[in-house]
Amino acid sequence: MDNQEADVIVIGAGIAGLSTAARAAEQGLGVVLVEKMSAIGGSSAMSGGWFAFTGTQEQQDAGIEDSIELFRSDLRKVGGYRNNPALVEAYMDNQLQTYEWLRAKGVSFGEVEISSGQSAPRGHSTRIREVLQLLHEDFTANGGETLFDARVTALDRNADGRVTGVIINDDTQLNAVLGVVIASGGFSRSRELLSVFAPEQLSAIPYGGPGNTGDGLRMGWKLGAGMADMSSISGTYGSHPETTDEQQELLTSYYMGGIIVNTDARRFVDESVDYKTLGSAVLTQPQALAFQIFDAPVRAKSHRGIALKDMDTLEDLGHLPSADTLEELAGLVGIPADQLVGTVDKYNAAIRGGEADEVGRTHLCNGVGELQPIEVGPFYAYPAKTLMTTTYGGLTFTPQGKVTDVDGEVIDGLYAVGEVTGGFHGAAYMTGSSLGKGSVFGCVVADTLASSYVGAVNG
Ligand SMILES: Cc1cc2nc3c(=O)[nH]c(=O)nc-3n(C[C@H](O)[C@H](O)[C@H](O)COP(=O)(O)OP(=O)(O)OC[C@H]3O[C@@H](n4cnc5c(N)ncnc54)[C@H](O)[C@@H]3O)c2cc1C
Repeated sequence: MDNQEADVIVIGAGIAGLSTAARAAEQGLGVVLVEKMSAIGGSSAMSGGWFAFTGTQEQQDAGIEDSIELFRSDLRKVGGYRNNPALVEAYMDNQLQTYEWLRAKGVSFGEVEISSGQSAPRGHSTRIREVLQLLHEDFTANGGETLFDARVTALDRNADGRVTGVIINDDTQLNAVLGVVIASGGFSRSRELLSVFAPEQLSAIPYGGPGNTGDGLRMGWKLGAGMADMSSISGTYGSHPETTDEQQELLTSYYMGGIIVNTDARRFVDESVDYKTLGSAVLTQPQALAFQIFDAPVRAKSHRGIALKDMDTLEDLGHLPSADTLEELAGLVGIPADQLVGTVDKYNAAIRGGEADEVGRTHLCNGVGELQPIEVGPFYAYPAKTLMTTTYGGLTFTPQGKVTDVDGEVIDGLYAVGEVTGGFHGAAYMTGSSLGKGSVFGCVVADTLASSYVGAVNG
């Protein structure tokens, strides 16, 4: 390291830290990005790459009708109206310019799809590793410095209580003139913190970046930071029980026309609700396991290489059993054949108007999309569990990204962005709103710091 002082220290090199760092460096601030692993990425690099934006070129090109009003009301609704309206509003105010900023950095957005918690297609797909690489290159080109294998182990505070820097690997002090930004991700890899805040999630499959052990949460906690949404932490349904860190296998065929049954071949939840709520519902079922059942027309909607929709790769991996009849399929995956046939018959009858749906389902996804009977073979059964990908509760913060304490007072000099924060999502999560929140609030925090710099220089 060239010197022991920076304008800004950013802890963690995922989407949140990289957005903050790149945006701050382009405005002339001296930024040191501190990453405990030997490479950038975190959970962001393992993610599906979906960003939630509205008013974009891609939506216009696809003729999608959406609006800020609908986006806001979807976010509030999926959050159970427990999310902080001021934070949702800050996202609304800044999301389009963040999208434009990412595009200006060279990010290209592909398909726009509807997904969990959305009532209009606004999930914008990206090649997320390329996005992270572009931001890191941009940061470095603007003079930013990155320290790898450098774990921040403590925050430094002066006598006035202002956060003035960090301690790295327990022995190196680094001071920050303007502020320290915690962008260290969640704690999906900490059994200890999960057992404190979300013990039921211990039976989900552990996932997310290996560095996501809640370091930033603990450091903020130690300084008296408030916390929000800790009681809403939930995994995502559904991923194959043998999924690996190298190949994430999340599939949401239920939003494309499938149903979900338990090991007794019975439905137990309205499949159109957000996949975090589904994640909690599946944890209550026998073996915490449920099968996504669908037929050939749903299988035909697969997008190879597109997260949540990629049945082709699952089939290549041998994780998507299929058969010409439902009876055979049930035999293959070891669930009762008579019951599976009965469950599907009942579902089809409800769609044809014969009777009410047994779990109250009326649409494919979040009130949108027409249900189709499951009747054209071959039939498929994807065995899937709840994946503990992300912990959306964390440090409380203002719409400018300043961390607040348990009394709601700003902790001077301390900022937070990304998955380490709480209050934005509320009860559950909309696809794309986490990468979105990392980049949107990353830009907001960087702008806040840049204006405080101008303020300091102008006296
Ligand atoms: C399988 C999967 C699929 C997902 N799909 C999507 C999706 O399509 N869309 C969406 O919006 N969200 C998705 N998510 C959630 C989303 O990816 C994360 O919430 C988001 O990427 C978090 O970004 P972040 O920058 O806050 O944290 P991270 O990307 O996890 O980055 C945090 C970084 O901080 C580092 N760090 C931690 N502690 C320290 C320390 N003490 N010192 C220094 N460095 C430290 C970590 O090593 C890590 O590199 C998905 C998550 C997973 C796991």
